[in-house]
Amino acid sequence: GSVFSHVVQAPEDPILGVTVAYNKDPSPVKLNLGVGAYRTEEGKPLVLNVVRHAEQQLVNDRSRVKEYLPIVGLADFNKLSAKLILGADSPAIRENRVTTVQCLSGTGSLRVGGEFLARHYHERSIYIPLPTWGNHPKVFTLAGLSVKTYRYYDPKTRGLDFQGLLEDLGSAPSGAVVLLHACAHNPTGVDPTPQQWEQIRQLMRSKALLPFFDSAYQGFASGSLDTDAQSVRMFVADGGECLVAQSYAKNMGLYGERVGALSIVCRAADVASRVESQLKLVIRPMYSNPPIHGASIVATILKDRNLFHEWTIELKAMAERIISMRKQLFDALRTRGTPGDWSHIIKQIGMFTFTGLNKEQVAFMTKEYHIYMTSDGRISMAGLSSRTVPHLADAIHAAVT
Ligand code: PMP
Repeated sequence: GSVFSHVVQAPEDPILGVTVAYNKDPSPVKLNLGVGAYRTEEGKPLVLNVVRHAEQQLVNDRSRVKEYLPIVGLADFNKLSAKLILGADSPAIRENRVTTVQCLSGTGSLRVGGEFLARHYHERSIYIPLPTWGNHPKVFTLAGLSVKTYRYYDPKTRGLDFQGLLEDLGSAPSGAVVLLHACAHNPTGVDPTPQQWEQIRQLMRSKALLPFFDSAYQGFASGSLDTDAQSVRMFVADGGECLVAQSYAKNMGLYGERVGALSIVCRAADVASRVESQLKLVIRPMYSNPPIHGASIVATILKDRNLFHEWTIELKAMAERIISMRKQLFDALRTRGTPGDWSHIIKQIGMFTFTGLNKEQVAFMTKEYHIYMTSDGRISMAGLSSRTVPHLADAIHAAVT
């Protein structure tokens, strides 16, 4: 017998498992709206032209070698990533108060940040929104933090539970870490308004709560890199400290390249430098140093004026296609006279719509219409096209009537 024969079958990941089920379905009309990956109008994955151009440059440069990167990753990539999220004119960057390390996409950045906090920060609690991306509680628990939740979404209004949020953060222990989605909250598509962000900032600073931003969708929500970074910049502008995890999976379409960054904004340059030395001690035994290819693509694009401009145009086009899918789905439901208020489909932003459909309705749509989505009723708008909107609208209509 095997020494592993006692090992029990683990359940599929609730998000990635949707794709596993989708792949097994032979139906020609099947539709995968589970995983958050951008698709073209033709339903195909997209490699941005600007990424192809950058890769071409990299291939043509015969001086490039495949040596190890430093533990903290590619220096240019780190500098330019901080600039992208904090703004070109950020005083924190100018004053050398920011340390940035290249990590394995957004997930790896959250994990490294979490482990650093567990080792060196005085408060173990991290508050995450309810609901949030399903990986958050697992990442932070394994990092050694104690995960608590704060109210975020109100199913009755399908909007922000702002009162609940203020109450829960108001009663969190002083110094607690608070995970904030920088924009395009996953899975709800509901973000605070700028005024609400300002109130959150004041409350958090008054209680010395430490912001940990998860920025997985910069540019994807509004189509503008600067607009989608406003929440983070608001917290950095007050001179206070925070952590930011960035991912280039969605906004550069670099999903499988696993390229991201963790920045820690500190009060002073000497602190930032000591913090970086400790981040290296977190990273070295975990994966030694990060991969070179994806970070080189990003750095090539961010440092070249023309490539950067080309990127912003392609990024805007992706964001606009998603926004147009929202309008088309909303109109299709209205045309069918589907009962209920579906205006949240056009109010929510980012990759996902939190439909309000329950587990039974989702199961019905999968069984009868071969539409695959997470059981919480979240659909990836980026997986839809003009061709597939009618099929989805038919399914939703049938599920609620
Ligand atoms: N945070 C949020 C909110 C996300 O939605 C995602 C991607 N689904 C991530 C982090 C991390 O993604 P990745 O590790 O692929 O960058």
